[in-house]
Amino acid sequence: MNSIYAMTNKQMQDAFLEMGEKKYRANQVFEWIYTKNVYDFHQMTNLSKDLQKKLSETFSSELLTIKEKQVSKDGTIKYLFELPAGGLIETVLMIHPYGTSLCVTSQLGCNMGCAFCASGLLKKQRNLTSAEMVMQILSVQQDTGQRISHVVVMGTGEPFDNYDEVLNFIYTINEPKGLAIGARHMTVSTCGIVPRIYDYAKEGLQVNLAISLHAPNDEIRNELMPINKTYNMDMLRQAIKDYIDQTNRRVTLEYILLKDVNDDVKYARQLAHYLRGLNVYVNLIPYNAVNEKGYAKSSDETIQAFKDELLRLRINCTLRKEHGSDIDGACGQLRAKQERRP
Ligand code: SAH
Repeated sequence: MNSIYAMTNKQMQDAFLEMGEKKYRANQVFEWIYTKNVYDFHQMTNLSKDLQKKLSETFSSELLTIKEKQVSKDGTIKYLFELPAGGLIETVLMIHPYGTSLCVTSQLGCNMGCAFCASGLLKKQRNLTSAEMVMQILSVQQDTGQRISHVVVMGTGEPFDNYDEVLNFIYTINEPKGLAIGARHMTVSTCGIVPRIYDYAKEGLQVNLAISLHAPNDEIRNELMPINKTYNMDMLRQAIKDYIDQTNRRVTLEYILLKDVNDDVKYARQLAHYLRGLNVYVNLIPYNAVNEKGYAKSSDETIQAFKDELLRLRINCTLRKEHGSDIDGACGQLRAKQERRP
């Protein structure tokens, strides 16, 4: 059965027309779901009993099941959800001064194989559908009673390896008469699938783009991120430049500081050189250690020295605030732990 959450407003109108129903009925259902938090067709009281029945026989409106929930001292909540179709995913809610942001998972497992990341401990089984990404928002809103104001597609998976579904998800949650999450309040993060960066530039979206760079040169990046062997840093830089030229938007570059791997100040200088002339800013990320991986977090002094060097070279940069470091905060950790339990 198709999920009712798989559709943008327009797609729902088309589906209803095809069923011989009026377009405005689709708008009513869309409104119940996304503005009134009603997910049971039988509770949509402005629809006839017949239509309620027909919809419940045609579409599923099931949400996610909470398998585990960890709440951090700073308010971060990490969910381990079970999908209606089976499979466990992680979704993380973070509380910021400016609102709430949800870190959404885009694939069941991940095949990118980044050396430091826990998500890749479990290989990709399949892409998530846009409905399954929408469900992550609705299920968290239902659990907390709070509206999600920001979305980052930075959970498990590579969004640009699931391009069409991720875009449909973005369009669905962006609907002004629905969740109305502003494009500027969304961020998609990629490990650098270069052809999709060119495609994405053409979409004309205001959604923020973040790129996981994590290295100042090909030698180190090849070690950390296998994708670099397909699309090296020159190719990536070209794509970033093209994106900025086309959209006039600033790109975020993510750089995890890994002790004795990429955190020397000489690498800050190489990074500054690589980024020279691009409208970007660097988001330095303290590493969230993953036991199985053998990498360690850089010391506070090293992180500060790296940041100071970038700033001295007039590269915009910020240090990411850590969230939920007292829970299994690192990407994929909770799920990997659960799946390995007997
Ligand atoms: N595949 C996408 C999005 C998911 S990963 C991408 O690569 O961007 C989201 C971000 O978290 C990436 O920058 C990733 O490199 C980073 N990350 C993964 N494991 C981490 C860890 N243990 N500590 C800190 N950041 C991590």
